[in-house]
Amino acid sequence: MKAIAINGTSNSGKTTVCEVIIKGLRERGYTVGSVKEIYSPDFALDPDLSEDTGRHRASGSQLVTARALHETDLLYQVKLPIEEILRHYDHDFVILEGVADCNCPRIITAHGLDEVKERLDGRVVATSGVLANEGSAELLGLPVFNALENPAALVDFVEERAFEPLPNFDPECCSQCGYTCRELAGRIARQEAQRADCVLDSQAIELVINGVSIPMVPFVQSILTNALVGVVQELDGYKKHSTIEVRLRR
Ligand code: SF4
Repeated sequence: MKAIAINGTSNSGKTTVCEVIIKGLRERGYTVGSVKEIYSPDFALDPDLSEDTGRHRASGSQLVTARALHETDLLYQVKLPIEEILRHYDHDFVILEGVADCNCPRIITAHGLDEVKERLDGRVVATSGVLANEGSAELLGLPVFNALENPAALVDFVEERAFEPLPNFDPECCSQCGYTCRELAGRIARQEAQRADCVLDSQAIELVINGVSIPMVPFVQSILTNALVGVVQELDGYKKHSTIEVRLRR
């Protein structure tokens, strides 16, 4: 699953850019999901506690599902980390509107240069939105895409530059690639490194919980591998270098 984030101020064209990318990728046959960050602290899909789902929430249910004929809404009662949200997605691409804390490439939408500078970091790969109406092809060394006049160029770019988000571990837990996760994401975004440079891609042990693969920092991989092999190698049927599968049902 590849991702790209679209960040910018209000009314700078974020949603329009997302719409163009989503539509363009769908037309090219990809499966596409999206995430919309909501900054209003009062936002809730079912704010009325007298509604049925609101009554579930008021009673203390920590995950309420509203299941209708053509829609299913999972209503968590907390703000989830983006890594956890993305575990729900198995799409070819996920477009993240307003999400700033994902270790993936970013496109900045803005009204002008100052707004781009405010949001500039190593993960930014392009600009778009209202400022593209000025007609420049490049700003601060970044390409400028006019999503409405040339949607195909923007979709081509996303197709080429989006990548699977890196995890977001503390540097004390992992710096095996020689950088922090955020720094490596920036280097990949700038095409100075490869997604495969994250060593977790080549991990020898995989932890799957309820069908979802959970990334583990190298020392946790080592602890789990050593504990597992230490026990399993005493059993009949163990062969060196075997692939070991353990299923735990609780
Ligand atoms: S190897 Fe992967 S998990 Fe470790 S710091 Fe680098 S990007 Fe993060």
